[in-house]
Amino acid sequence: MKHICPVCGKSNGCAIEIGIDPQLCWCMSIKVPKSLLETIPSEQRGKSCVCKACVLVYKQKFEAIHTWVEDAVLDLRYMTKNNFVGDVMYPKAFDCLRVGTLDKLKQAADALRSMGYRIVVWDAYRPRFVQERFWDLIQDDRFVAPPWIGSSHNRGCAIDLTLADLEGNLLNMPTDFDCFSESAGAYASIEDEEIEKRLRTLQACMTSAGFLVYRHEWWHFVDSEEDLYRVENDIKW
Ligand SMILES: [Zn+2]
Ligand SMILES: [Zn+2]
Repeated sequence: MKHICPVCGKSNGCAIEIGIDPQLCWCMSIKVPKSLLETIPSEQRGKSCVCKACVLVYKQKFEAIHTWVEDAVLDLRYMTKNNFVGDVMYPKAFDCLRVGTLDKLKQAADALRSMGYRIVVWDAYRPRFVQERFWDLIQDDRFVAPPWIGSSHNRGCAIDLTLADLEGNLLNMPTDFDCFSESAGAYASIEDEEIEKRLRTLQACMTSAGFLVYRHEWWHFVDSEEDLYRVENDIKW
């Protein structure tokens, strides 16, 4: 039964079972979330590999941020007029991300909480039609991805975030959200030592959970497995 995927019951294409070098197996390049393995009945757990298709279906699903990080503070700026456009940009709250990304976000949020922080979410999934409006306003690809390429937000695997204390009070960071200047850089010089330390803590927790820092915007983090996700123009939400 070692070649059977415990989730779908089909062949799992396990490298060892089909006799190829385990180092060449797909599972060496795609992270299998622990939370997926926990959905397998305990008597079947650890006996055979989950197949690639099941891992992808699981990671590509969209779920609410609060399902994974209960204490996340949602301050979705594009749901309000408090953003660089000055207008409500989203027809509904897209307080969601891919499960593969949420699995990493939970790990980062757990680490941050143990240090006295809660995450504050400014943006997560963003429909592609909104990307077109942003591009019309800011044609600078350091700050807005051109819609024909698509932003990692359009793929549902990027998050814009800042930090609050455990009571939910917003903490000072280098700049406000959507500050389109050099001072928004992830490694721009910061005079205030406390703010610098706070940003480095956020970056360390996000990168060790599997996110990449974006050098032009300190608040923007992208899932290192971005290639698993395609641009979505709208999602049922
Ligand atoms: Zn399967
Ligand atoms: Zn962003």
